[in-house]
Amino acid sequence: MEGVRATEVRSALEAAGRTPSRSLGQNFLVDANLAAKIARLAWGEGAQRNAIEIGPGLGSLTVFLAEYFDKVVALESDRFLLEPLRAILQERAVSNVEVLHGDAMNFDIAEHLEPEDGWILAANLPYNVASPLIATILENLLAVDRLVVMVQSEVGERLSASPGSKAYGALSVKVQYYADAKVVLRVPPSVFRPQPKVQSCVVELKRHDRWTSVVSPLQQEAMFTLVRAAFGHRRQMLRRSLASFGGDALLEACAISPSERPERLAIQQWFNLGTTWCARTVEG
Ligand code: SAM
Repeated sequence: MEGVRATEVRSALEAAGRTPSRSLGQNFLVDANLAAKIARLAWGEGAQRNAIEIGPGLGSLTVFLAEYFDKVVALESDRFLLEPLRAILQERAVSNVEVLHGDAMNFDIAEHLEPEDGWILAANLPYNVASPLIATILENLLAVDRLVVMVQSEVGERLSASPGSKAYGALSVKVQYYADAKVVLRVPPSVFRPQPKVQSCVVELKRHDRWTSVVSPLQQEAMFTLVRAAFGHRRQMLRRSLASFGGDALLEACAISPSERPERLAIQQWFNLGTTWCARTVEG
C-alpha cells in the first residue's frame, strides 16, 4: 500500500483551504514505514478482525489499517478533512473503510459496530483529548478488546505507570483497572507535519476483566470516588484526604497505613478500599 506523503498532506490541506488546527491536535503522520508498523502492532496476532480509528485525518494510518482489517470505522470531527480523506482512500482503491463525521467525545460509536464485539481501536490520537477518550472508551465501549494508540510520551508514561512512580495517578488507576497498559514504541517529532514540541509513543492497552467481573456498579463507583478524592490531594497522607470517608478506620480495615500517599497504592488496594467503604456505608 502506498503511504500518505508529506507533499500529499500539504496539497490536500491547501486544496481544502485549511491549515492544521492546533485545537484539534492535527499533527499528521507522514512516515509510511511507521504508519505501517502501527497498523501491524494493531493487528498483533489477528485476534480482532475489525478496527475503529479515531481521528483518521488524511488517512496516513487508515490506509494501512485497511490492509490488515476486514473493516475499519474511522471517526473524524473535522468536516473539512472528510472529502480529502475519502479522495485519498479512493485513489488507493480502499473500499473497506467507513468514514464517519463526529466528535469522539460524544459520539455513539457502538451504534456503528457490526459485529458488536471483537474490535480494536487504533489511532494517532488528538493529544488534547487522548486521556479522557481512552478512559471513556475503556469504561463504555465494551466491544473494544484492545487499543493501540499514539499519545504524547508523558501521557503514555501515566497510562502505564506502576504504583510508587512519579507518573502514577488517577488516570493510571482508572485505565489499569480495565486494561494492561504497555508502551510499545517511542516516536520522535520528525515523523509528523507539523512537528509537535513533545515526544510521542505508542501504547498498547489490552482489556482484562480482573476487577470488572467481580465488582458491583456501586462498589466500582465507591472505588473511583476514593481514587478521585485521594489523588485530588496527592501530597496529603490518605488519613487526611480520605478523612470524610472513614479515614484511619477505613484504611486500617484494609491493612493500609494511614500515613500512606495515594501514588503508592496498587489497584488491588484501591479495590479493597472501594468495596470496604461501600460495605460500610451504602450497603451497611
Ligand atoms: N490519523 C491521522 C494521522 O495519523 O496523520 C491524524 C492524526 S491527528 C494527531 C488527530 C486527528 O484527530 C485529526 O485529524 C483531528 O481532526 C481529529 N480529531 C481531533 N479531535 C477529535 C475528536 N474529538 N473526535 C474525532 N476526531 C478528532
